[in-house]
Amino acid sequence: MGRKFVVGGNWKMNGDKNTIHEIITTLSNGPLDPNVEVVIGIPAIYLAYVQSIVPDNLKVAAQNCWKVEKGAFTGEISPAMIKDVGSEWVILGHSERRTIFKETDELVAEKVAHALATGLKVIACIGETLEEREAGKTEEVVFRQTLPLIAAIGDNWDRVVLAYEPVWAIGTGKTASPAQAQEVHAALRNWLVSNASPAVAEAVRIQYGGSVTAANAKELAACPDIDGFLVGGASLKPEFVDIVNATM
Ligand code: PGA
Repeated sequence: MGRKFVVGGNWKMNGDKNTIHEIITTLSNGPLDPNVEVVIGIPAIYLAYVQSIVPDNLKVAAQNCWKVEKGAFTGEISPAMIKDVGSEWVILGHSERRTIFKETDELVAEKVAHALATGLKVIACIGETLEEREAGKTEEVVFRQTLPLIAAIGDNWDRVVLAYEPVWAIGTGKTASPAQAQEVHAALRNWLVSNASPAVAEAVRIQYGGSVTAANAKELAACPDIDGFLVGGASLKPEFVDIVNATM
């Protein structure tokens, strides 16, 4: 289908200079499948440090940003700053941002729009909670979260990756089964045909995230609509190399 596999690491609020150096050394030694795009999401305070030691085959993402270029927004970072330190990507709308920091679908969309306007690439996260899944609302929630992103993305789909991350699978050790993940990915792609365009639906890469490990990555990667992973806990471990190489 020609969608390049893309694996993201989301370090969340983990790591210090020593462990970061170790992780980058491990990833540099790889070897990482050259046919896979690899993006690691770093705590903002270490972006510049990581940029100074990272090899060319690894791209770097911030895990959040604000929706304007600069100004009186104490504690925030802007897409312009992320770009300025040499990073190309930002992860937006992660469920921890939505839940803990109360980011709404609309705010996430505003952030996506500004990050894209600044020239960054975006991993935009969506996904249902356990309660929503059990109420049979998985697709409704995923479509509702994606809808405002469509206007925000406009013509910039080539710089966007969607990450489907069921909240009940994040950090819980409970992975969605390949069938469960594939079902939502296929439904989302099909929904994009009419809500974005057939070309967007065909080309956009949809990552799966939620307790991805080296042990389950190959089976998930074999699903036709899973185009990569967004990996939390396991992205801090050497097994991230095996996850990147899951399609080899
Ligand atoms: P996990 O996190 O792999 O630790 O479940 C995934 C994520 O939050 O992106």
